[in-house]
Amino acid sequence: METQDWTTKLHDGPPRPATLKRINMRRFLEELRRRGPSTRAELTRAIGVAPPTSSAIIADLLDSGWLEPAFDRPGSKGRPGKVFRLATSSCFVVGALIQVDRVFIAPAGLDGRLEASKIVSFPTPSNYGRLLDSLAREAERFGSDPIQRCLGFGLGVPGLLDESSGVVALSPNLHYLDGRPIGQDLRERLDLDVTCTQEEHALCIDEQHFGGARHVRDFAVLDVTDGMGMGVVSGGSYMHGRQGYAGEVGHVTVEPNGVICGCGNRGCLETVATDRAFLSAVSAIRGEPLDFPEAAGLAAAGHPQTLREMERTIDYLAIALAAIANLFNPEAIFIHGKLLDLSPDLIVRLRAATAMRALSPSFADVKILRARGDKLGGVLLGLLDKVFASVGPILT
Ligand SMILES: [Zn+2]
Repeated sequence: METQDWTTKLHDGPPRPATLKRINMRRFLEELRRRGPSTRAELTRAIGVAPPTSSAIIADLLDSGWLEPAFDRPGSKGRPGKVFRLATSSCFVVGALIQVDRVFIAPAGLDGRLEASKIVSFPTPSNYGRLLDSLAREAERFGSDPIQRCLGFGLGVPGLLDESSGVVALSPNLHYLDGRPIGQDLRERLDLDVTCTQEEHALCIDEQHFGGARHVRDFAVLDVTDGMGMGVVSGGSYMHGRQGYAGEVGHVTVEPNGVICGCGNRGCLETVATDRAFLSAVSAIRGEPLDFPEAAGLAAAGHPQTLREMERTIDYLAIALAAIANLFNPEAIFIHGKLLDLSPDLIVRLRAATAMRALSPSFADVKILRARGDKLGGVLLGLLDKVFASVGPILT
């Protein structure tokens, strides 16, 4: 009965068996994604279809390689129940993440779980042609097993990205991407479907699936690593803006005569309130390039100038957080970056600094939390959304 209603909603007409089958296949895939490995009885119960229908759908998904048997679990009446999971050996996807200094690339099964041991990384190539060559080379290496079928390639991109076309409009910290149709260029090289996801969107997706935003409908993720970017989920939906360029809080001016930013303006928030900004400031004080653990070590040792830089960075970060609270009235703001590791009480201090700047009703109940999401993980999940959509429609 439930399925009949869905079909009617889809077509405003009589049920179409082929569509019904695809809808049900998609429901099973999404249920497995949500629950993890499950028995036939668990899936049948959760989805609410008749047992023969469930058996037929599982058989179809096994035949097409989307599903695989995992192991047997003791049943309630002593009979072992076969447990099924999303394919990890017959099908796979590949995700890559472009960052300013390094590129990360990894395969994953259809469950989207990222295994740290399978992540390959290399320094970000110095020009666009070399970047495409390196991505294609590594992707082909993962796809060399003829038994496995690669269902798609996901790419995480920094900057202003039109996700629907895969064209980068502007990447303030990696300008050779500006104007590049990187989705199409990679599609031609790899002969695979390529799904491009803006890096902050990827962070939001992973935070929703595996992080602290699983049941949160209004939240923001603020990325304070190389640059400053933001993703906002409002009422459960990600805010893309008209062309997909929303969320660039990092390029709001806070120091009109400040240092030049990668975007060409002066004194943007990302020049004063990020891991990179803190590190540059401490390196300048010490007169030598430091890495983040070295700068953190100076803070932990109570080095006065480093502590002053830390306070300055936190003050600017509070301006960003107050703006987010005032503009979007979220339930939680997740911060992705190393700055919060500088001191155990930094979140408390950041909260106090933000409270001084934000409108108090807007900020009163906002949680400030460390992001647990991962950009590459989010790229893979974004890709899998599209891969699963190829099986059948989902109705909400
Ligand atoms: Zn800027």
